[in-house]
Amino acid sequence: DAYVPAASRYDRTPYRRVGRSGVLLPPISLGFWQNFGENRDPLTLRTIVRRAFDLGVNHFDLANNYGPPPGSAETHLGRILEQDFRHHRDELVISTKAGYRMWDGPFGDGGSRKYLLGSLDQSLTRLGLDHVDIFYHHREDPHTPLEETMGALAQAVRSGKALYAGISNYSPEQTRQAASLLAELGTPLLIHQPSYSMFNRHIEDGLLEVVDELGVGLAAFSPLQQGLLTNRYLSGVPQSSRAAGSSGSLSQRQVEDPDYQARVRGLSAIAHERGQSLAQLALAWALRHPQVSTALVGASSVHQLEQNVGTLENLELTDEEITRLDEFAID
Ligand code: NDP
Repeated sequence: DAYVPAASRYDRTPYRRVGRSGVLLPPISLGFWQNFGENRDPLTLRTIVRRAFDLGVNHFDLANNYGPPPGSAETHLGRILEQDFRHHRDELVISTKAGYRMWDGPFGDGGSRKYLLGSLDQSLTRLGLDHVDIFYHHREDPHTPLEETMGALAQAVRSGKALYAGISNYSPEQTRQAASLLAELGTPLLIHQPSYSMFNRHIEDGLLEVVDELGVGLAAFSPLQQGLLTNRYLSGVPQSSRAAGSSGSLSQRQVEDPDYQARVRGLSAIAHERGQSLAQLALAWALRHPQVSTALVGASSVHQLEQNVGTLENLELTDEEITRLDEFAID
């Protein structure tokens, strides 16, 4: 069945400018970390991606190692792009990264020029693309000189294999240095990708100010704290959920913790007053900073995706609501 994107796809999304750049991103973007591997039904994946695009979600966040197994999220998206999006490549922002272990030996991990540029070529092959839009270094590598890593990002951009450079999981201080090195190389740092949610507020200790000053945007990852900031675990651990799975990133113990359960009920009550779901409240909260260009959200179903995009119908939070949320929104 030929895919014809919804004509209305750009009508309702308040796209946000990324720092002081020419790039605009949707407030809600689709992340491919754990829900796009070989353990998922390819048809569901294709339906999620099509629905996302129809809803104005034209930014897909990937990395070399997303799956499982590593690489399979890129392969899956590559197939979907080929089937459905051949005539829409220039409407899409596709991001990928290198920085975590990807292949055996000394060059399959870290921050070397050898790893980053080799990995980018592999990602492009899996995606079936000649360039990605954003190429990120995925995490700090204390053993490689930052000059080398930033030189590799700048080279990726100069060669046309990436249009913009990003960093992820960098401290405020390393962010400053990275931005300065990239500026010297004539490739401005576009975006930083840190974790941020009501249960993980580290960016409020410096990073928000630093990116504001540098004119760099933020892509906030795991804004739902992997599902903890949703109604997913209000009555037990569903079999299909991340906490029940084998990825190990979210444990059964965390969701059964009585302190967590009390906080999530407090937050749900406030969401209910606002006529929103807890997931929608959590996303509106993460997006309340102008520096946060986009929230990278995972979805294991079309329903979750639709609910998350529904956040855009009520993004406003009053100062009073923010203060009330502080009682529960703690690391
Ligand atoms: P989230 O915090 O958005 O968690 C997503 C999970 O929450 C889903 O898989 C689903 O769980 C559940 N969920 C989502 N929406 C709903 C809803 N409306 N109702 C109920 N449950 C819901 O983010 P992720 O941890 O998935 O990360 C998002 C993206 O961020 C990644 O895909 C990746 O692109 C990026 N990321 C980047 C990292 C980095 O180091 N740079 C690290 C981690 C993520 P279930 O599967 O149980 O249905």
